[in-house]
Amino acid sequence: IYPGSVDAAGRPATLGVLGGGQLGRMFVHAAQRLGYLTAVLEPDAQSPAGLVSHHHIQTAYDDPAGLAQLAGLCQAITTEFENVPAQALQTLAHTRPVAPGAAVVGIAQNRIEEKAHFTACADVSGVTCAPYAVIETPAHLQAVCTERPDLLPGILKTARLGYDGKGQVRVQTADALAAAWAELGGVACVLEKMLPLTAECSVLVARGWDGQVVVFAPQRNVHVDGILALTHAYEGAVPPPLAARAAAAAVAIAQHLDYVGVLCVEFFVVDDGSAHGGLVVNEMAPRPHNSGHYTLDACSASQFDLQVHAMTGLPLPQPRQHSPAIMLNLLGEVWFDASGQPQEPDWQAVLRLPGTHLHLYGKAQARPGRKMGHLTITGPDVANVKAVARRAAELLN
Ligand code: ADP
Ligand code: MG
Repeated sequence: IYPGSVDAAGRPATLGVLGGGQLGRMFVHAAQRLGYLTAVLEPDAQSPAGLVSHHHIQTAYDDPAGLAQLAGLCQAITTEFENVPAQALQTLAHTRPVAPGAAVVGIAQNRIEEKAHFTACADVSGVTCAPYAVIETPAHLQAVCTERPDLLPGILKTARLGYDGKGQVRVQTADALAAAWAELGGVACVLEKMLPLTAECSVLVARGWDGQVVVFAPQRNVHVDGILALTHAYEGAVPPPLAARAAAAAVAIAQHLDYVGVLCVEFFVVDDGSAHGGLVVNEMAPRPHNSGHYTLDACSASQFDLQVHAMTGLPLPQPRQHSPAIMLNLLGEVWFDASGQPQEPDWQAVLRLPGTHLHLYGKAQARPGRKMGHLTITGPDVANVKAVARRAAELLN
Protein backbone atom coordinates (compact mmCIF):
# COMPACT_ATOMS: atom_id res chain seq x y z
CA ILE A 1 0.00 0.00 0.00
CA TYR A 2 1.91 2.98 -1.26
CA PRO A 3 1.84 6.30 0.51
CA GLY A 4 0.00 8.94 -1.43
CA SER A 5 -1.83 6.39 -3.58
CA VAL A 6 -5.54 6.82 -4.21
CA ASP A 7 -7.94 3.91 -4.60
CA ALA A 8 -10.53 3.40 -7.36
CA ALA A 9 -13.07 5.37 -5.33
CA GLY A 10 -10.62 8.27 -5.06
CA ARG A 11 -9.77 7.77 -1.41
CA PRO A 12 -6.19 8.39 -0.28
CA ALA A 13 -4.36 5.49 1.37
CA THR A 14 -5.38 5.43 5.02
CA LEU A 15 -3.85 3.46 7.86
CA GLY A 16 -5.87 2.46 10.89
CA VAL A 17 -4.93 1.81 14.49
CA LEU A 18 -6.91 0.24 17.29
CA GLY A 19 -6.35 2.21 20.45
CA GLY A 20 -5.78 5.89 21.06
CA GLY A 21 -2.88 6.04 23.52
CA GLN A 22 0.55 7.60 23.11
CA LEU A 23 1.83 4.67 21.06
CA GLY A 24 -1.03 5.25 18.64
CA ARG A 25 -0.24 8.95 18.56
CA MET A 26 3.40 8.38 17.61
CA PHE A 27 2.31 5.77 15.05
CA VAL A 28 -0.08 8.33 13.53
CA HIS A 29 2.71 10.90 13.34
CA ALA A 30 4.97 8.42 11.52
CA ALA A 31 2.21 7.42 9.09
CA GLN A 32 1.32 11.02 8.32
CA ARG A 33 4.94 11.90 7.61
CA LEU A 34 4.82 9.39 4.76
CA GLY A 35 1.65 10.95 3.40
CA TYR A 36 -0.89 8.44 4.67
CA LEU A 37 -4.16 9.52 6.18
CA THR A 38 -4.90 7.88 9.52
CA ALA A 39 -7.90 6.57 11.43
CA VAL A 40 -7.99 5.78 15.15
CA LEU A 41 -10.62 3.64 16.83
CA GLU A 42 -10.80 4.67 20.47
CA PRO A 43 -13.76 5.30 22.80
CA ASP A 44 -12.10 8.18 24.68
CA ALA A 45 -12.94 11.56 23.09
CA GLN A 46 -9.67 13.15 24.29
CA SER A 47 -7.22 10.36 23.50
CA PRO A 48 -3.60 11.20 22.54
CA ALA A 49 -3.92 9.51 19.12
CA GLY A 50 -7.51 10.52 18.41
CA LEU A 51 -6.54 14.18 18.85
CA VAL A 52 -3.99 14.07 16.02
CA SER A 53 -5.61 11.64 13.56
CA HIS A 54 -7.55 12.53 10.41
CA HIS A 55 -10.36 10.21 11.49
CA HIS A 56 -11.37 9.31 15.02
CA ILE A 57 -13.96 6.57 15.32
CA GLN A 58 -15.25 6.92 18.83
CA THR A 59 -16.63 3.49 19.72
CA ALA A 60 -15.72 0.55 21.92
CA TYR A 61 -12.89 -1.61 20.50
CA ASP A 62 -15.28 -4.47 19.82
CA ASP A 63 -18.17 -2.41 18.44
CA PRO A 64 -19.19 -4.02 15.10
CA ALA A 65 -20.22 -0.71 13.53
CA GLY A 66 -16.99 0.97 14.64
CA LEU A 67 -14.89 -1.89 13.27
CA ALA A 68 -16.81 -1.85 9.99
CA GLN A 69 -16.21 1.88 9.71
CA LEU A 70 -12.48 1.41 10.38
CA ALA A 71 -12.23 -1.36 7.78
CA GLY A 72 -14.13 0.81 5.31
CA LEU A 73 -11.74 3.74 5.74
CA CYS A 74 -8.42 1.92 5.90
CA GLN A 75 -6.21 -0.10 3.58
CA ALA A 76 -4.26 -1.65 6.46
CA ILE A 77 -4.75 -1.78 10.22
CA THR A 78 -2.59 -2.22 13.30
CA THR A 79 -3.00 -2.04 17.07
CA GLU A 80 -1.24 0.05 19.65
CA PHE A 81 -2.15 -1.81 22.79
CA GLU A 82 -2.09 -5.49 23.46
CA ASN A 83 -5.32 -5.81 25.35
CA VAL A 84 -7.40 -4.96 22.32
CA PRO A 85 -9.93 -7.78 21.95
CA ALA A 86 -8.21 -10.31 19.68
CA GLN A 87 -11.66 -10.91 18.17
CA ALA A 88 -11.67 -7.32 16.89
CA LEU A 89 -8.43 -7.95 14.98
CA GLN A 90 -9.90 -11.17 13.65
CA THR A 91 -13.00 -9.37 12.39
CA LEU A 92 -10.94 -6.69 10.67
CA ALA A 93 -8.68 -9.32 9.11
CA HIS A 94 -11.62 -10.72 7.11
CA THR A 95 -11.45 -7.68 4.84
CA ARG A 96 -8.15 -5.91 5.49
CA PRO A 97 -4.50 -6.73 6.14
CA VAL A 98 -4.03 -6.57 9.91
CA ALA A 99 -0.57 -6.62 11.50
CA PRO A 100 0.20 -7.99 14.00
CA GLY A 101 -2.47 -10.68 13.63
CA ALA A 102 -5.11 -11.75 16.13
CA ALA A 103 -3.40 -15.06 16.91
CA VAL A 104 -0.06 -13.57 17.96
CA VAL A 105 -1.70 -10.74 19.87
CA GLY A 106 -3.76 -13.41 21.66
CA ILE A 107 -0.58 -15.21 22.69
CA ALA A 108 1.04 -12.02 23.99
CA GLN A 109 -2.13 -11.21 25.95
CA ASN A 110 -1.85 -14.31 28.05
CA ARG A 111 1.25 -15.05 30.11
CA ILE A 112 0.48 -18.76 30.06
CA GLU A 113 0.45 -18.91 26.26
CA GLU A 114 3.34 -16.49 26.05
CA LYS A 115 5.56 -18.65 28.25
CA ALA A 116 4.48 -21.76 26.36
CA HIS A 117 5.61 -20.05 23.15
CA PHE A 118 8.95 -19.03 24.64
CA THR A 119 9.44 -22.59 25.83
CA ALA A 120 8.44 -24.03 22.46
CA CYS A 121 11.07 -22.00 20.63
CA ALA A 122 13.81 -22.14 23.29
CA ASP A 123 15.88 -24.41 21.05
CA VAL A 124 16.06 -21.82 18.30
CA SER A 125 16.02 -18.67 20.47
CA GLY A 126 18.63 -19.99 22.90
CA VAL A 127 16.79 -18.50 25.89
CA THR A 128 14.27 -19.85 28.37
CA CYS A 129 11.88 -18.02 30.68
CA ALA A 130 12.08 -18.01 34.48
CA PRO A 131 10.99 -21.29 36.13
CA TYR A 132 7.23 -21.08 36.57
CA ALA A 133 4.02 -22.97 37.18
CA VAL A 134 0.48 -22.31 35.99
CA ILE A 135 -2.21 -21.79 38.65
CA GLU A 136 -5.75 -21.87 37.31
CA THR A 137 -7.59 -23.96 39.89
CA PRO A 138 -7.42 -24.64 43.65
CA ALA A 139 -5.96 -28.06 42.77
CA HIS A 140 -3.12 -26.36 40.84
CA LEU A 141 -2.50 -24.11 43.83
CA GLN A 142 -2.35 -27.10 46.13
CA ALA A 143 0.02 -28.95 43.85
CA VAL A 144 2.33 -25.96 43.48
CA CYS A 145 2.37 -25.43 47.26
CA THR A 146 3.44 -29.00 47.92
CA GLU A 147 5.50 -29.85 44.84
CA ARG A 148 7.21 -26.63 43.72
CA PRO A 149 9.00 -25.12 46.74
CA ASP A 150 11.75 -24.23 44.22
CA LEU A 151 9.48 -21.43 42.91
CA LEU A 152 9.54 -19.57 46.23
CA PRO A 153 10.21 -16.76 46.83
CA GLY A 154 8.30 -15.96 43.70
CA ILE A 155 6.01 -13.52 41.92
CA LEU A 156 2.40 -14.42 41.27
CA LYS A 157 1.22 -12.73 38.07
CA THR A 158 -2.24 -12.74 36.55
CA ALA A 159 -2.21 -14.43 33.15
CA ARG A 160 -4.14 -11.55 31.61
CA LEU A 161 -4.30 -7.77 31.79
CA GLY A 162 -1.17 -7.13 33.84
CA TYR A 163 1.00 -4.13 32.95
CA ASP A 164 3.43 -1.77 34.67
CA GLY A 165 3.72 -4.22 37.58
CA LYS A 166 -0.06 -4.34 38.12
CA GLY A 167 -1.68 -7.72 38.75
CA GLN A 168 1.43 -9.02 40.54
CA VAL A 169 2.11 -10.06 44.12
CA ARG A 170 5.47 -11.08 45.52
CA VAL A 171 5.23 -14.12 47.76
CA GLN A 172 7.73 -15.73 50.13
CA THR A 173 5.81 -18.74 51.46
CA ALA A 174 3.13 -21.21 50.42
CA ASP A 175 0.66 -19.52 52.79
CA ALA A 176 1.40 -16.14 51.26
CA LEU A 177 0.94 -17.67 47.81
CA ALA A 178 -2.52 -18.97 48.71
CA ALA A 179 -3.48 -15.58 50.14
CA ALA A 180 -2.12 -13.77 47.08
CA TRP A 181 -4.06 -15.98 44.66
CA ALA A 182 -7.25 -15.22 46.62
CA GLU A 183 -6.35 -11.51 46.60
CA LEU A 184 -6.01 -11.64 42.80
CA GLY A 185 -9.51 -13.10 42.63
CA GLY A 186 -8.58 -16.72 41.94
CA VAL A 187 -8.07 -15.93 38.25
CA ALA A 188 -5.61 -17.78 36.00
CA CYS A 189 -2.08 -16.92 37.09
CA VAL A 190 1.53 -17.94 36.75
CA LEU A 191 3.86 -18.25 39.70
CA GLU A 192 7.34 -17.29 38.62
CA LYS A 193 10.50 -17.85 40.57
CA MET A 194 12.05 -14.59 41.80
CA LEU A 195 15.36 -14.25 39.99
CA PRO A 196 18.45 -12.27 41.05
CA LEU A 197 18.27 -9.63 38.31
CA THR A 198 21.37 -7.61 37.55
CA ALA A 199 19.72 -5.72 34.70
CA GLU A 200 16.79 -5.72 32.29
CA CYS A 201 16.91 -5.15 28.58
CA SER A 202 14.58 -5.24 25.60
CA VAL A 203 14.85 -5.73 21.86
CA LEU A 204 12.69 -4.27 19.12
CA VAL A 205 12.26 -6.37 16.01
CA ALA A 206 10.30 -5.52 12.89
CA ARG A 207 9.21 -8.19 10.45
CA GLY A 208 7.46 -7.76 7.14
CA TRP A 209 4.82 -9.82 5.32
CA ASP A 210 7.62 -11.28 3.19
CA GLY A 211 9.63 -12.36 6.24
CA GLN A 212 12.20 -9.56 6.03
CA VAL A 213 13.49 -8.83 9.54
CA VAL A 214 15.34 -5.87 10.99
CA VAL A 215 16.35 -5.47 14.61
CA PHE A 216 17.40 -2.53 16.77
CA ALA A 217 20.34 -2.93 19.14
CA PRO A 218 19.15 -4.03 22.61
CA GLN A 219 18.58 -1.28 25.16
CA ARG A 220 18.89 -1.47 28.94
CA ASN A 221 15.81 -0.57 30.98
CA VAL A 222 15.46 0.61 34.55
CA HIS A 223 12.07 0.09 36.20
CA VAL A 224 10.89 1.85 39.34
CA ASP A 225 7.84 0.42 41.11
CA GLY A 226 7.21 -1.83 38.10
CA ILE A 227 7.08 1.10 35.63
CA LEU A 228 9.77 1.88 33.10
CA ALA A 229 11.72 4.91 34.34
CA LEU A 230 14.82 5.04 32.14
CA THR A 231 16.15 3.49 28.97
CA HIS A 232 19.88 3.44 28.21
CA ALA A 233 20.50 3.11 24.50
CA TYR A 234 24.13 3.25 23.47
CA GLU A 235 27.03 0.98 22.67
CA GLY A 236 27.80 -1.04 25.79
CA ALA A 237 24.51 -0.27 27.61
CA VAL A 238 24.00 -4.01 27.31
CA PRO A 239 27.30 -5.94 27.33
CA PRO A 240 28.00 -6.91 23.68
CA PRO A 241 27.89 -10.72 24.14
CA LEU A 242 24.50 -10.46 25.85
CA ALA A 243 23.27 -7.90 23.33
CA ALA A 244 24.07 -10.23 20.44
CA ARG A 245 22.28 -13.13 22.11
CA ALA A 246 19.24 -11.02 22.99
CA ALA A 247 18.93 -9.67 19.46
CA ALA A 248 19.19 -13.15 17.94
CA ALA A 249 16.66 -14.52 20.43
CA ALA A 250 14.15 -11.76 19.68
CA VAL A 251 14.43 -12.40 15.95
CA ALA A 252 13.94 -16.14 16.49
CA ILE A 253 10.88 -15.49 18.66
CA ALA A 254 9.35 -13.20 16.02
CA GLN A 255 10.04 -15.67 13.24
CA HIS A 256 8.63 -18.59 15.18
CA LEU A 257 5.38 -16.60 15.57
CA ASP A 258 5.38 -15.70 11.85
CA TYR A 259 5.00 -12.20 13.27
CA VAL A 260 4.29 -9.16 11.08
CA GLY A 261 4.92 -5.69 12.53
CA VAL A 262 7.01 -4.39 15.41
CA LEU A 263 7.53 -6.71 18.37
CA CYS A 264 9.31 -5.87 21.62
CA VAL A 265 10.84 -8.72 23.61
CA GLU A 266 11.88 -8.03 27.22
CA PHE A 267 14.72 -9.91 28.90
CA PHE A 268 16.15 -10.27 32.37
CA VAL A 269 19.88 -10.38 32.92
CA VAL A 270 20.39 -12.79 35.79
CA ASP A 271 23.41 -13.31 38.01
CA ASP A 272 24.41 -16.89 37.21
CA GLY A 273 28.05 -16.58 38.16
CA SER A 274 29.18 -16.03 34.55
CA ALA A 275 31.02 -12.93 33.39
CA HIS A 276 28.04 -11.09 31.93
CA GLY A 277 25.23 -13.01 33.56
CA GLY A 278 22.61 -15.18 31.93
CA LEU A 279 19.75 -14.11 29.70
CA VAL A 280 16.13 -15.00 30.52
CA VAL A 281 13.19 -13.98 28.36
CA ASN A 282 10.47 -12.18 30.35
CA GLU A 283 7.62 -11.09 28.10
CA MET A 284 6.78 -9.61 24.72
CA ALA A 285 4.65 -6.73 23.54
CA PRO A 286 3.03 -7.07 20.10
CA ARG A 287 3.55 -3.41 19.21
CA PRO A 288 6.07 -0.60 19.53
CA HIS A 289 7.20 -0.20 23.14
CA ASN A 290 8.01 2.49 25.67
CA SER A 291 11.63 1.29 25.74
CA GLY A 292 11.92 2.06 22.02
CA HIS A 293 10.92 5.71 22.15
CA TYR A 294 14.56 6.81 21.93
CA THR A 295 14.53 5.54 18.32
CA LEU A 296 12.51 8.63 17.35
CA ASP A 297 15.45 10.91 18.06
CA ALA A 298 18.52 8.69 17.98
CA CYS A 299 17.97 6.44 14.95
CA SER A 300 17.62 6.83 11.20
CA ALA A 301 14.22 5.11 11.40
CA SER A 302 12.03 4.88 14.49
CA GLN A 303 10.08 1.94 15.79
CA PHE A 304 6.94 3.71 14.55
CA ASP A 305 8.37 4.19 11.06
CA LEU A 306 9.07 0.47 11.00
CA GLN A 307 5.53 -0.33 12.08
CA VAL A 308 4.24 1.72 9.14
CA HIS A 309 6.65 0.05 6.71
CA ALA A 310 5.90 -3.46 7.98
CA MET A 311 2.10 -3.21 7.86
CA THR A 312 2.02 -1.62 4.40
CA GLY A 313 4.53 -3.95 2.80
CA LEU A 314 7.18 -1.28 2.24
CA PRO A 315 10.82 -2.37 2.51
CA LEU A 316 12.13 -2.28 6.07
CA PRO A 317 15.10 0.06 6.43
CA GLN A 318 17.84 -1.29 8.70
CA PRO A 319 17.76 1.35 11.44
CA ARG A 320 21.10 2.97 12.20
CA GLN A 321 21.56 4.62 15.59
CA HIS A 322 23.41 7.88 15.03
CA SER A 323 23.59 9.10 18.64
CA PRO A 324 23.90 7.56 22.06
CA ALA A 325 20.66 8.19 23.94
CA ILE A 326 18.97 8.02 27.30
CA MET A 327 15.20 8.25 27.62
CA LEU A 328 13.48 9.45 30.78
CA ASN A 329 9.82 8.62 31.15
CA LEU A 330 7.75 11.59 32.33
CA LEU A 331 5.13 10.24 34.71
CA GLY A 332 2.36 12.28 36.30
CA GLU A 333 4.47 12.82 39.43
CA VAL A 334 6.54 15.37 37.50
CA TRP A 335 3.49 17.66 37.48
CA PHE A 336 3.29 17.78 41.30
CA ASP A 337 5.66 19.31 43.83
CA ALA A 338 6.93 17.60 46.99
CA SER A 339 3.85 18.60 48.96
CA GLY A 340 1.50 17.23 46.30
CA GLN A 341 0.53 20.59 44.82
CA PRO A 342 0.19 20.77 41.02
CA GLN A 343 3.17 22.43 39.31
CA GLU A 344 4.25 22.96 35.73
CA PRO A 345 7.67 21.37 35.17
CA ASP A 346 10.50 23.83 34.51
CA TRP A 347 10.64 23.26 30.74
CA GLN A 348 12.74 26.41 30.29
CA ALA A 349 15.55 24.86 32.30
CA VAL A 350 15.10 21.37 30.84
CA LEU A 351 15.04 22.53 27.24
CA ARG A 352 18.10 24.72 27.75
CA LEU A 353 20.09 21.53 28.29
CA PRO A 354 21.80 20.41 25.06
CA GLY A 355 20.40 17.41 23.20
CA THR A 356 17.02 17.24 24.92
CA HIS A 357 14.00 16.11 22.89
CA LEU A 358 10.70 16.60 24.69
CA HIS A 359 7.66 14.51 23.74
CA LEU A 360 4.33 15.20 25.42
CA TYR A 361 1.32 13.05 24.71
CA GLY A 362 -1.41 15.67 24.99
CA LYS A 363 -3.00 14.22 28.13
CA ALA A 364 -4.89 16.96 29.89
CA GLN A 365 -4.69 15.55 33.38
CA ALA A 366 -1.58 14.39 35.21
CA ARG A 367 -1.97 11.53 37.67
CA PRO A 368 0.74 9.70 39.57
CA GLY A 369 2.03 6.80 37.46
CA ARG A 370 0.36 8.10 34.30
CA LYS A 371 2.67 8.27 31.28
CA MET A 372 2.48 11.92 30.24
CA GLY A 373 5.49 12.10 27.96
CA HIS A 374 9.15 11.29 27.68
CA LEU A 375 12.41 13.15 27.33
CA THR A 376 15.15 11.72 25.14
CA ILE A 377 18.69 13.00 25.50
CA THR A 378 21.09 12.56 22.63
CA GLY A 379 24.64 13.82 22.41
CA PRO A 380 28.08 13.39 20.93
CA ASP A 381 29.21 10.73 23.41
CA VAL A 382 27.91 8.58 26.23
CA ALA A 383 29.53 10.64 29.03
CA ASN A 384 27.84 13.77 27.74
CA VAL A 385 24.45 12.08 27.43
CA LYS A 386 24.69 10.66 30.95
CA ALA A 387 25.63 14.05 32.42
CA VAL A 388 22.72 15.81 30.70
CA ALA A 389 20.31 13.04 31.69
CA ARG A 390 21.40 13.35 35.32
CA ARG A 391 20.82 17.12 35.24
CA ALA A 392 17.44 16.71 33.54
CA ALA A 393 16.37 14.13 36.12
CA GLU A 394 17.31 16.54 38.92
CA LEU A 395 15.27 19.32 37.34
CA LEU A 396 12.24 17.05 36.90
CA ASN A 397 12.26 15.37 40.31
P1 ADP B 1 4.55 -6.10 33.44
O1 ADP B 1 3.62 -6.72 32.46
O2 ADP B 1 3.86 -5.39 34.52
O3 ADP B 1 5.65 -5.31 32.77
P2 ADP B 1 6.68 -7.96 34.19
O4 ADP B 1 6.51 -9.43 34.20
O5 ADP B 1 7.56 -7.39 33.15
O6 ADP B 1 5.22 -7.33 34.18
O7 ADP B 1 7.21 -7.52 35.62
C1 ADP B 1 7.44 -6.17 35.97
C2 ADP B 1 8.81 -6.02 36.62
O8 ADP B 1 8.91 -6.83 37.81
C3 ADP B 1 9.95 -6.51 35.75
O9 ADP B 1 10.35 -5.51 34.82
C4 ADP B 1 11.01 -6.83 36.79
O10 ADP B 1 11.64 -5.65 37.25
C5 ADP B 1 10.20 -7.39 37.94
N1 ADP B 1 10.10 -8.88 37.82
C6 ADP B 1 9.14 -9.56 37.15
N2 ADP B 1 9.34 -10.89 37.20
C7 ADP B 1 10.45 -11.09 37.93
C8 ADP B 1 11.17 -12.28 38.37
N3 ADP B 1 10.79 -13.50 38.02
N4 ADP B 1 12.29 -12.08 39.12
C9 ADP B 1 12.69 -10.83 39.47
N5 ADP B 1 12.05 -9.68 39.10
C10 ADP B 1 10.95 -9.80 38.34
MG1 MG C 1 7.30 -5.87 31.68
